[in-house]
Amino acid sequence: MNSTAADRYTPLTKTAIDVDAVVVGAGFTGIYMLYRLRQGGFTARCFDSASGVGGTWYWNRYPGARCDIESMQYSYQFSEELQQEWRWKERYASQPEILAYIEHVAERYDLNRDITFNTRVGKATFDEDNDLWVIETDESEVIRARYFIMSVGCLSAPIRPKFDGENDFRGEIYQTSLWPKEPVDFTGKRVGIIGSGSSAIQSAPLISQEAAHVYLYQRTPNFVVPSQNRPLSDEDVDLIKSDYKGFRRQAYAENSAFNFLRYDQSVFDLPPEERRERLDQQWEIGGLPFLGGFNDILTNEDANKEVAGYWRDRVSEIVKDDEVLDRLTPDEIFGCKRLCAGTNYYEMFNRDNVTLVDISNKGIEMLTESGLRAEGKDYNLDMIIYATGFDAMTGSVTRIEITGANGQTIQEKWADGPHTYMGLSIAGFPNMFNMVSAGSPSVLATMVTCAEQHGDWIGDCLEYMRANSYTRIDATPQAEADWDAEVNRAADASLRVKCDSWYVGSNVEGKARVFAPYIGGWPPYITKCMAIAQNGYEGFDLG
Ligand code: NAP
Repeated sequence: MNSTAADRYTPLTKTAIDVDAVVVGAGFTGIYMLYRLRQGGFTARCFDSASGVGGTWYWNRYPGARCDIESMQYSYQFSEELQQEWRWKERYASQPEILAYIEHVAERYDLNRDITFNTRVGKATFDEDNDLWVIETDESEVIRARYFIMSVGCLSAPIRPKFDGENDFRGEIYQTSLWPKEPVDFTGKRVGIIGSGSSAIQSAPLISQEAAHVYLYQRTPNFVVPSQNRPLSDEDVDLIKSDYKGFRRQAYAENSAFNFLRYDQSVFDLPPEERRERLDQQWEIGGLPFLGGFNDILTNEDANKEVAGYWRDRVSEIVKDDEVLDRLTPDEIFGCKRLCAGTNYYEMFNRDNVTLVDISNKGIEMLTESGLRAEGKDYNLDMIIYATGFDAMTGSVTRIEITGANGQTIQEKWADGPHTYMGLSIAGFPNMFNMVSAGSPSVLATMVTCAEQHGDWIGDCLEYMRANSYTRIDATPQAEADWDAEVNRAADASLRVKCDSWYVGSNVEGKARVFAPYIGGWPPYITKCMAIAQNGYEGFDLG
């Protein structure tokens, strides 16, 4: 049997380490990291609390779960064979299809053998004397690794608000982000959905087709545009596959790292009639690319208001009840929160078995034996579904007890918001890398593209360390402070900082308000990453 590169590699120091790297999380990011480490001849182990690969796509199995980035872009590009052989079925892939794809990749590259499932990493402590991490799992295993790599996802720490009387409710309770594998039967049931973000927007229309009645408890409305999802034809697929590399190259030149029709024109560059035609065209394209119609929707408040007005016109053509339409109309900047892509969302409110419940005053007051009380009224329910979001960007990192150099914990370090160097590294946490998270384009770029770029950058860095006999790498406080300033500068130039959203952490009580992802664009970000590597890992202390 041929030995693999990992079999041949002997760590450079005598200090006993179990593996070169521990990777936390087996979603898109973690499994690519694992693949890349193996390619580089490093030994690695990956841990995930789930029973299989998939990360976000493992847990979010609720009806209607679907990606809002086109499938042919929301997929790996490291292997031409892989991208040629996989045939996506729909423009926007559903959760089962994405999960099947990730499982296929893990099997194709034999990655599962280095992944320990059903196991959560609870604690990681940097051992300063030996430049290594001591990592502890909830299965009481202790692993010593030179590198500690977090690939825990941006939307992986679910939030479930606590309500009085929670244990009194006799019906079924579900959470979209922790959906069971077994089918859930809604037939003939009165279902209460708490929340009106993407997860509720995707699931409610399907649930309402089976349930006796759906009550959607909305605290704040969101802007939803039609996703315009459709099956992919052979022509659609062949066109991209005929030059997949070129297609990916074009995406790399975009600020969001994905290809879409985008106009470099202000809303006010066109007279009203042509403006309307442009917006009609973008509405037909649908989803996030709707924002490509003009270049100042997210930077100019007047331009933004024009687009919000258009949105209201279009939705008023769908929703029959004016009072419901008013309740569904957000009083905020269009696209400030992540724009939601829906299918039959507004149409659903014309159904007799759907009630939109405005809970913007008193909220959900309590759960009762037979349902819940909201805004002073009791609702009888058979099932309650929490679609209440995530402690995004940082929550999946800070829920692990991580202690870096000088005994500083990640909770202390990030008490006033995340601080990173390129999102990849955190000063004072040597030999630790944080992938596709705060401080990098992450959720504002195509996550899979970001995962690969991060995996490659870290892989190259580790090879550089090995070639130069270094055992320790840490971002300098100055490099980190400069990058924090750039992250904030970029955010301040966007209208997106102006509203409450999980981007700024305002959905979590007590969380510092900081726009966490880097919104300065993909090309400048990767250019800087490359320059840092080319300059011998500028901004890092190596030892
Ligand atoms: P979300 O956008 O944060 O929405 C959570 C909802 O729960 C909000 O409507 C929120 O109201 C409500 N809520 C929270 N706590 C509540 C409470 N105590 N009482 C009543 N209502 C409460 O979460 P999400 O829908 O899971 O989506 C999060 C992100 O995940 C999305 O923005 C997207 O990036 C990603 N995602 C994407 C897709 C997709 O289309 N591909 C699908 C699902 C998720 P307030 O707004 O008033 O706080």
